[in-house]
Amino acid sequence: MIRPAELIQRKRDGEELPADELGALVLAYSRGEVPDYQMAAFLMAVYFRGLSRAETFALTDAMIRSGETIDLGSALGRKVVDKHSTGGVGDKTSLSVGPIVAACGVPLGKMSGRGLGHTGGTLDKLESIPGYRTELSLDEYVAQVREVGVAIIGQTGDLVPADKLLYGLRDVTATVDQQSLIAASIMSKKLAAGAQAIVLDVKVGDGAFMKTLEDARQLAETMIALGRDAGREVVCLLTDMDQPLGAAVGNALEVREALATVRGRGPADFTELVLDACAKLLALSDLGIDEAEGRRRAEAVVADGTAETAWRRWIEAQGGTADESALPRAPLVREVTAPATGYVTSLSAIGVGLAAVHLGAGRRTKDDEIDHAVGVVLHAKRGAAVEEGERLAEIHARSDAEAAAGAAEVLRAYELGAEPPAERPVLLEVVR
Ligand code: URA
Repeated sequence: MIRPAELIQRKRDGEELPADELGALVLAYSRGEVPDYQMAAFLMAVYFRGLSRAETFALTDAMIRSGETIDLGSALGRKVVDKHSTGGVGDKTSLSVGPIVAACGVPLGKMSGRGLGHTGGTLDKLESIPGYRTELSLDEYVAQVREVGVAIIGQTGDLVPADKLLYGLRDVTATVDQQSLIAASIMSKKLAAGAQAIVLDVKVGDGAFMKTLEDARQLAETMIALGRDAGREVVCLLTDMDQPLGAAVGNALEVREALATVRGRGPADFTELVLDACAKLLALSDLGIDEAEGRRRAEAVVADGTAETAWRRWIEAQGGTADESALPRAPLVREVTAPATGYVTSLSAIGVGLAAVHLGAGRRTKDDEIDHAVGVVLHAKRGAAVEEGERLAEIHARSDAEAAAGAAEVLRAYELGAEPPAERPVLLEVVR
């Protein structure tokens, strides 16, 4: 018999909880035996007190045990790869990486999450595609990875149900940006969904949950240790989230940009990250190639259209309409223009991310509906030279009032100066 109030108190007071008690709490919560308000209080205690390495392992293990697991490698007789991001603004990387890697002949199976706080979630983006089913049964998931080469699904009732519940609760209780909770959330999904090699994109900057390289390195090391313990290969990319990734922020807008990138017409920073992640996944796969060859093959399938064919096959296999014209569009588009001539010295990722949430692209409460059509398209990123009156960004909105508020918010995210800023690449570091 667990006593949640006691566990909350012990964690609040800084105690390290034994693995069996922590595990029992998580499993009881996922069976509906512990109410949200107690779990929310527990998460807040974890937020302030943190979890030890042993507690983080116990939490991850309990989350995995809350549902079923799949051994994709045995089911397919192939080495399956996966990729996940810790969450950022404009981060639609998985949408482009999946079909590119599949087009190179490497199966990718992935379980994604919804938006958290100001960051967008892959599932929310995919749901802007009419008909796309995020909830496949485990049999359907395995069959699709085998036959189509790529499947991206949500936390189903079967796989890591505890993460689905905790994720929604953390999103609305200011308990997202805690290293152990992020590591357990990501790695429970990765380990349960069965891929043997995983590339993790750990975002760093004002729009990320990890604000410093040091915190990002620590998170990377925890996730690598969780993966190794389970016999998986994990590589972490630490990447820039001081400004949004690519140009589009908002669900359907990001799906369009991901498709453009699969066609070889994506923004430079986003394309670079996608190709780098693909190169690393292909080098970890059973193709027996190195990263340089992986990069060459990823570029080749983009250039010859094979990656776009893989995109279509994947979206259609999951019930979606692959045609771009089926994606929703916001009724209003309003420009944000430069108030002065100069260089964009910074472009706050969190500023743009919150503007998109306020336009309706993200949730403010657990049960909020998302408006898939709205968001922001950035035409000038950090380092760009702009003239007074030149277009900086576009706001895609539902109403005039929301468009005006969004435009003011996005303008506040820009800083202009007389000198160009120091260059900061999108890929900052690799941790193995
Ligand atoms: N992505 C996840 O899947 N979980 C988190 O906690 C943060 C980002």
